[in-house]
Amino acid sequence: KATKLGSHIRNEFPLFANNKKIEDGQIKPFSYLDSAVSAQKHISVIKAMSHHLEYDYGSVHRGAYGVSVRSSQMYENTRTIVANFIGKSVKPEQIVYTRGTTESLNILANGIAEEYLQENSRIVIPVAEHHANLIPWQQVALRKNCELAYIPFEGKIGKELRLNLSEAKKLITKNTKVVSLAHVGNVIGQINPIEEVIALAKSVGALVVLDCAQSMTCIEEDVFALGADAIAFSPHKIYGPSGIGVLAMSKELIERLPPYTFGGGMISDVTLEGSSWTQGPAKFEAGTPPITEVAGLGAAIEWISQVGKIHIHDHAAALAAEFLSKVQEIPDIEVFAPGTGQETIVSFRHKKIHAHDLATILDAENIAMRAGHHCAWPFIRFLGVDALIRCSFAAYSDKDDIELALAAIKKASKIT
Ligand code: PMP
Repeated sequence: KATKLGSHIRNEFPLFANNKKIEDGQIKPFSYLDSAVSAQKHISVIKAMSHHLEYDYGSVHRGAYGVSVRSSQMYENTRTIVANFIGKSVKPEQIVYTRGTTESLNILANGIAEEYLQENSRIVIPVAEHHANLIPWQQVALRKNCELAYIPFEGKIGKELRLNLSEAKKLITKNTKVVSLAHVGNVIGQINPIEEVIALAKSVGALVVLDCAQSMTCIEEDVFALGADAIAFSPHKIYGPSGIGVLAMSKELIERLPPYTFGGGMISDVTLEGSSWTQGPAKFEAGTPPITEVAGLGAAIEWISQVGKIHIHDHAAALAAEFLSKVQEIPDIEVFAPGTGQETIVSFRHKKIHAHDLATILDAENIAMRAGHHCAWPFIRFLGVDALIRCSFAAYSDKDDIELALAAIKKASKIT
């Protein structure tokens, strides 16, 4: 029998109990509707991290003593947990710990530029990408004199917005060396047709990079089996800690890409004249890594696996679909959503209240939603707006969050 989600598990996320507001003797529960920016932490993650700090903390791969050995074992064993979580086609020695999706994508863009791009090579990305999957490519395109081509979106602004596959087909040409795209978008939550895009990229021999920052809790697809060459994600978006990222790469990339940062732990030899690098994930993990965060990541994956990714996704998507259908009934609300029923994000704006003001009004009701450009300025401009407010759902979200949010938006509408 599937685990109950929503308000049934909110007591497993201590932050909620600690953020109730009491006003005029009335309790206002905390409605956290911004999990797309970062998810709240499950108690097992908090406990795993504090247990590690209290009993086992030591630097990894540095000491012969007990705590260092135990920390190193945990650190390495977690690569297997992460690999299994991503899919059958990836091995622990292909998993690199980074500081976040952003750093993972920078390592990839710089390394791919170094090894695979020549002058006039083409890089293809969708117009809807997060800045973390846009600026690194823009920078390497400038440096290497490459062409950066953007796949446009099609459909109606209000709904049915999707990546334009026929344009993608035209843009992914013979001189395309890399195609990089989000699995799930962070602005409107669209699930991109990665299978089709991977097939197009492979037909011209291009590498495929997937930004999985928004998809790791919801999509159970063996992306390496589909042909992806590298994926990046952030544990803080899957109920785990911040300060750590994951980069999984094909065997070819992990061997061929140069290191991104230099220092301790990533060398095979250093002399005063020059240095050489170790092979495998360590080549990309210079310096003291996030150690306790790895313990937290392992616990987050264990919890998600117990509950079931698909179960979490279906729960969040059903809530998003309900919110979407109700919020668009409110006068002056314009939604920006694909509306397929599979998204866990609903972005919208109020024609008379700026997104930032609306977010502030919602905060007064103890409701957290993010307003702004969502680190995707080109896409926000493409949509013809200057800011959107985004409501995103997760395992602990429930119908009460929807009702509170709708009531607060209606109340705000009355003020204007
Ligand atoms: N890509 C997408 C699609 C995202 O949603 C985010 C986080 N907002 C990032 C990349 C960057 O992730 P991080 O800030 O954890 O590096």
